[in-house]
Amino acid sequence: MKPQLIHDCATLRSLVQSLHRQGKTVGLCPTMGALHEGHLSLVRESLKRADVTVVSIFVNPTQFAPNEDFDKYPRTLEKDLELLETVNQGGNVVAFSPSAEEMYPSEFHTYVDVAGVAKPLEGAFRPIHFRGVATVVLKLFLMTQADFAFFGQKDFQQVQVIRQFVRDLNVPIEIVMCPIIREADGLARSSRNRYLDPDARQRALVLCQSLKIARGMLENGCRDRDLIREEIRKTIEIHPSHKIDYIAVVNPDTLLEQGPELTLPVAILLAVKIGETRLIDNILVG
Ligand code: AMP
Repeated sequence: MKPQLIHDCATLRSLVQSLHRQGKTVGLCPTMGALHEGHLSLVRESLKRADVTVVSIFVNPTQFAPNEDFDKYPRTLEKDLELLETVNQGGNVVAFSPSAEEMYPSEFHTYVDVAGVAKPLEGAFRPIHFRGVATVVLKLFLMTQADFAFFGQKDFQQVQVIRQFVRDLNVPIEIVMCPIIREADGLARSSRNRYLDPDARQRALVLCQSLKIARGMLENGCRDRDLIREEIRKTIEIHPSHKIDYIAVVNPDTLLEQGPELTLPVAILLAVKIGETRLIDNILVG
């Protein structure tokens, strides 16, 4: 069934208010569109837990720095709606695709600025990124009055940033983290994979391959942070055009770097440029 398509906040608000009056629950899957199996896995999980699922499709300008890919980010609304149709057997999926003016009218002056978990890693390389993410996600939480929101482990730091402001601001919502969906050869699904030419697409496997090696080392009892990081580095740097932004071996709760002798649980997060395309991936062990 085609999902209902809403473009404005007022219509969305009156829909969710009427659902709540009927005692129905609402799940929210925030996305920037260019949907793929990773996004659909969030929608499927939401459909299991909530009566109605709102999928927001919005390329959020405030989370891109001027030198980033906001302009070239893929916008494929018609195709996204067709994909949502494949999971909307019950007719309980709503697509919310607002304009930038709808989300950020002129005279918009309020931002959510998370410290702590938002500052290292992506926060260090993309200083305004999480401010934009937290702001748009809180707006979506308020607009949809959602009971649950679904995010992918693919963006693990983002999940931790959202959990942080939900706790800090007493937002009445349950955050559900869903596993990373990968291609058959291991590459994490991402809207940005379409930037990769066939050669770069093949070389991009170094992210998941290096994480697999690290997981094997940890599972075999290795606790030597620097040894694990070195193995990852060697695997990624097999090609001179691969540029590592970070290889972080951290405590998953705080995202602070672990000491030289690791204690489980461990999160390993990577950001690597494969040519012009910046990709991220991660594993959680223990
Ligand atoms: P994006 O459209 O890239 O902002 O992603 C929207 C949501 O989909 C975020 O919660 C992402 O973590 C999630 N997501 C993106 N790719 C994947 C994937 N490969 N597996 C699971 N979740 C994903």
